[in-house]
Amino acid sequence: MTRPAPTSDAKDDARPLPAEPLSLIMDTMTAMILETPGQALRATSVPIPIPGPNQVRLRIAACGVCRTDLHVIDGELKDVPPGIVPGHEIVGRIDAIGEGVSGLRPGQRVGVPWLGSTCGICSYCRDERENLCDDPGFTGYTINGGYAEYTVANARYVFPLPEAYDDAHAAPLLCAGLIGYRSWSPVREAKHLGLYGFGAAAHIIAQVAIREGSVVYAFTRPGDQQAQNFARDLGAAWAGASDEPPPSPLDAAIIFAPVGPLVPQALKAVRKGGTVICAGIHMSDIPAFPYEILWQERTLRSIANLTRADGEEFLALAARVPIETHVKTYPLAEANTALSDLRHGRLTGAAVLIP
Ligand SMILES: [Zn+2]
Ligand SMILES: [Zn+2]
Repeated sequence: MTRPAPTSDAKDDARPLPAEPLSLIMDTMTAMILETPGQALRATSVPIPIPGPNQVRLRIAACGVCRTDLHVIDGELKDVPPGIVPGHEIVGRIDAIGEGVSGLRPGQRVGVPWLGSTCGICSYCRDERENLCDDPGFTGYTINGGYAEYTVANARYVFPLPEAYDDAHAAPLLCAGLIGYRSWSPVREAKHLGLYGFGAAAHIIAQVAIREGSVVYAFTRPGDQQAQNFARDLGAAWAGASDEPPPSPLDAAIIFAPVGPLVPQALKAVRKGGTVICAGIHMSDIPAFPYEILWQERTLRSIANLTRADGEEFLALAARVPIETHVKTYPLAEANTALSDLRHGRLTGAAVLIP
C-alpha cells in the first residue's frame, strides 16, 4: 500500500512551524479524515501535529462518537473544511507543550470538548456567553479533532478529568455529558422531566436529574424496547414511545433526537408554564403546530455549544455523582462502523474510538 501524501489543506498548516528536529516533523500518525462531506472517513497517514503557541499536544487515548459528528460528515453543518478530522470528545495525555502554556504538565490527562476556541472580544465573549461567540473554533468541525492518534488543542480550552473515570468512560462526558448538562441547567428544578431520544446525552443527564430528585420519563423511537429498557435500568420512572403521552404532565422536556416533529409532541406533553429545550445542533424541520400547544406560557428554546464554565461545573459534578457512562468501544480504524451504528440506532449508550 502506498502512503498518501500529507494533505496540504490541513488547518494547522496555516501556522508557522516552530524549529523542531526534522525527525519529529516527519513522524506520522493515522487519522480518520473526512475528505468530502457525504463520504466515508478514510484512514490516512499524516504528520503528527506540532503544538503552536498556547497549544498542547495530546496522545489520544479515547475519542467519543457524537451525533454532531454525523451532522459534520453528512454536510448538514455549513462550510465543513475539506480534510478535517472529526471528533470532539477527546481524552488524551499531554505529550508536548507549546510556548506560553501554563498550568498544564506533560503526562497530565485532559479532555478536549466541542468548544475549541473563542475570539474573546465579541459582545458574547465579554458577556460570559462564549458559547455564542461570533468567531468560534469547534473541535472536529473547524479544528482537527480526535479521530486520530494525536491532536493539538488550545490549552485554555482543555479540562483536567475526574480520576474516577477510565479513558473510554470519560470520553462521553465531554459532549454528551456537557451538552446534556447545559440543556438540563435551565430546567433543573423540574420535578417531572421528559427526555426525548435516549442516547448518549440522555443516559448521562438522566442519572444526574434523578439524583437531584427529578422523576425522569424517557421517550424513544416507537418500538425501541432496547432503549426503553436501558432507560428503566438507569432509573427512569417511565419509558415509552415518543408519540405516547407520559403518565403525568411534564414540567420540562429536553429533545436530544434531531427530529423536528418531536417539538410539537413535547409541547403537548408539558404542562402550563413548562419548557421544551432543543439540545441538538441540527434538527429536521419542525412541522407547523397549533398555537394552543405553546399558549399558557410554555417556553420553547434551544441550547448551543458550551462555555468553559459549563465544563468546569459539570466535570466537578461528575466527580461527585459518579455517573455510570455506558460505552461501546471500537478501534480507531472502525470509525465508520461506529458512526453507522449510531446513525441506525444500534447503540445503547455511547460509541468510543480507541486509537
Ligand atoms: Zn467571541
Ligand atoms: Zn457532540
